[in-house]
Amino acid sequence: SKYVYTFGGGKAEGRSDMKELLGGKGANLAEMSSIGIPVPAGFTITTEVCHEYYEAGRKLPEAVKPQVEESLELVEKLSGKKFGDSKDPLLVSVRSGAALSMPGMMNTILNLGLNDVVVEGLAAKTDNPRFAYDGYRRLIDMFGSTAMGVDHEHFEHELTKLKDEKKVKLDTDLSAADLKELVKRYKAVYSKHVGEGFPQDPKDQLWKAIMAVFNSWMGNKAVQYRRIERITGLKGTAVNVQAMVFGNTGGNSGTGVAFTRDPNTGEDVFYGDYLINAQGEDVVAGIRTPEPISKLDSEMPKVYQQLMDIRKKLESHYKEMQDIEFTVENGTLYMLQTRTGKRTGSSAVRIAVEMVKEKLIDEKTALKRVNPDSLNHLLLPQLDPKAKVKSVARGIAASPGAACGKVILSADAAVAHHEAHPNDPILLVRKETSPEDVAGMHLAKGILTATGGKASHAAVVARGWGKPCVVGCEGIVIDEKGGKLTIGGQDVKVGDYVTINGTNGDVMIGQVPTVDPSISGHFAELMGWADKARTLKVRTNADTPADARKAREFGAEGIGLCRTEHMFFEGQRIVDMRKMILADDTAGREKALAALEPYQREDFVGIFEAMDGLPVTIRLLDPPLHEFLPHDDAGQQEVAKQLGIPVEKVKLRVEQLHESNPMLGLRGCRLPIKFPEIGDMQVRAILEAAIEVKKKGKSVLPEIMIPLVGTVEELAILKKRALAVAEEVFKKAGTKVEFLIGTMIEIPRAALTADQIAEEAEFFSFGTNDLTQLTFGFSRDDIGSFMPAYVDQKILPVDPFQTLDQRGVGQLVEMGTERGRKARKEKHDQHLKVGICGEHGGDPESVVFCHKIGMDYVSCSPFRVPIARLAAAQAAL
Ligand code: ADP
Ligand code: MG
Ligand code: MG
Repeated sequence: SKYVYTFGGGKAEGRSDMKELLGGKGANLAEMSSIGIPVPAGFTITTEVCHEYYEAGRKLPEAVKPQVEESLELVEKLSGKKFGDSKDPLLVSVRSGAALSMPGMMNTILNLGLNDVVVEGLAAKTDNPRFAYDGYRRLIDMFGSTAMGVDHEHFEHELTKLKDEKKVKLDTDLSAADLKELVKRYKAVYSKHVGEGFPQDPKDQLWKAIMAVFNSWMGNKAVQYRRIERITGLKGTAVNVQAMVFGNTGGNSGTGVAFTRDPNTGEDVFYGDYLINAQGEDVVAGIRTPEPISKLDSEMPKVYQQLMDIRKKLESHYKEMQDIEFTVENGTLYMLQTRTGKRTGSSAVRIAVEMVKEKLIDEKTALKRVNPDSLNHLLLPQLDPKAKVKSVARGIAASPGAACGKVILSADAAVAHHEAHPNDPILLVRKETSPEDVAGMHLAKGILTATGGKASHAAVVARGWGKPCVVGCEGIVIDEKGGKLTIGGQDVKVGDYVTINGTNGDVMIGQVPTVDPSISGHFAELMGWADKARTLKVRTNADTPADARKAREFGAEGIGLCRTEHMFFEGQRIVDMRKMILADDTAGREKALAALEPYQREDFVGIFEAMDGLPVTIRLLDPPLHEFLPHDDAGQQEVAKQLGIPVEKVKLRVEQLHESNPMLGLRGCRLPIKFPEIGDMQVRAILEAAIEVKKKGKSVLPEIMIPLVGTVEELAILKKRALAVAEEVFKKAGTKVEFLIGTMIEIPRAALTADQIAEEAEFFSFGTNDLTQLTFGFSRDDIGSFMPAYVDQKILPVDPFQTLDQRGVGQLVEMGTERGRKARKEKHDQHLKVGICGEHGGDPESVVFCHKIGMDYVSCSPFRVPIARLAAAQAAL
């Protein structure tokens, strides 16, 4: 079979749609080569080889060897140089590249083919011994550390030592003789740690490097990255072997990385960095501070113009924003990589909308281009414009949004801190970040680095995740060992609060207040297209008028879940609630309930007003009563004092209410079954509020939702009672409002007997949190101890409380919907309205499922409403 694909000289055997086989890098190098973009010649060993390599216990298939030899000859022909030649040598890079980009996660080795003899030839040929020896020492370092497992620090140590001896600050200040000396020392480091000399046979180097790339596929960094990014199902990495071009031959050479549009804002400007006289990773490594790409226009006008042309050509060819790597060797431009550029949510929206205007793509494509979750980014808190912001330092704005957290100075410490204090916001502050840091970075609210540019590791990764990030903040001096730092000259300790503004690069000491953003401009336009495309409605979970208003701004088409218990916790309310719970008899309870009723009514009035014209689903009291009572002595003393009763009585009642499994105990519809007066009060408050708001000329559509129903009888009893209360209310008011009575389907038995339940229920709302809990037998509050192991061992693909388990819980949802709808139609000739109100209502994958099974709506938290709108549109496309 064909294991190797060549590219170069305006031709290629591969294409951009062969990413599975050639990896993203290989496929796009091929594509660029065949559309006439200058790319150094090379070849790609397929991901299939990687797969077979692991299948065979880390052995390459035999047939790879001759194919590589043959392809290498072609590269030699195209470049006019020979690999291992001592006069005019061809050098190559060996580069990783899987189907999905995993920036910096796997190994790349540059300058392969140099040895003690070849380096002399290269020095003579280029008349540049400094360059030749610099290349050689980099090769020994990269090859030693990535292929042979020598700690890079050992090489770095020699470099620093030599610079000290020579009393120079920059690598570039070292002379040719110095670098020759450095090569000697690097070779000694290599021999000491590997146990044999640095390989002098270029072919030997090449094969070891190829194996090293394949090995890096299963390296820690790569495995961890795939886990965090939930990347599964890939064959492996491809290996690209490519003729080297040199950005480090002098002032007429350089290297850079750029985006065809601004990946932060989406603005249609060329965006990136470059360094003169530099090679490979120098730009992203944050060692030297790179120049903005616009400056290249004055430094190398011809090259800049060529780059601008390529930028246009790539965008019109790929119809997508591209992230590119290039190198200039003695004034000649070469492209080394192109791929779809990672971008922030806001940038994704702007680019998609503007590309429709430019007629590069259509509206449907635009909708598909934006990852619903990435909208999070546009909904991130921003610094309150009214807040007093005293910026103590400013860095480069790398990923927008404001983040505030406790300073932690290493990724490992962030992981440890998170384990100990899962709710603490963390701000990770580092000199720079590297791929080892991803786990800690992932946990942080925001990332701040002292060095690095817009394309540095921290910036790229943070943007991908939609995390606020400021990089290259030179006003920071970190003392990691001492657990402290200074920002703009001011002392800060680990654990102190620091705030960053990733939108403009500001760094502030302390906590600065933030505000929520709104939907406008490109975002509003895209959401308009989404609304045209979708059929699934989107409601919100909101318990207060403020949340309801916010959700409406974000496009909510009603409330799918209003939790009444949240209203009982504030101020005087909790006192009355406790009186109700502690009452000895019905009369006592009724008295306390009468005190609570006005509060409830007021809250409902506010919510109905905010949702004028839209349906509002209100769930009756759901949690176990003990949640309203304090469990510690001090708290119980206080309650006793507040209520004027002996503390023993409080304690006794707490004891009586104690349950072994409160989540399976006296809660949900079981409460009004046992204490009907509680339900009566709530129904009365809802309907009286509805009448009041209707009298003000507004339109109210209340839906009373009874939680935790498992049998139709429960629902029948409570519905009958609610209807009786309604009649009373309407009679007293002399007017009526339309309303529905329905139920949550959150107990597996309810889903199984949905046909019976639908005879009573006028709507279903799937409470998938409890339904997941009860179907799996997982206590939602206790999964922390085992869920990571379950996901690691692939028992479950993801936490089923985040993304609906379609195979299991989803079956109950689908079946319940079908049976319920059918029965309602047959018995009452009515359409049964069905929705979902668990966390899943705002999870894009779960939203797609809800669309597929024909639900009427999903309901989610206000900030996820736009995300659900877009996900619903994508589901309908
Ligand atoms: P990554 O996937 O981590 O970006 P790359 O394979 O793209 O790794 O290579 C790392 C760096 O080396 C990049 O800056 C790239 O442009 C540079 N590089 C790779 N191959 C060559 C080559 N043949 N000539 C010059 N520079 C190269
Ligand atoms: Mg790499
Ligand atoms: Mg790259």
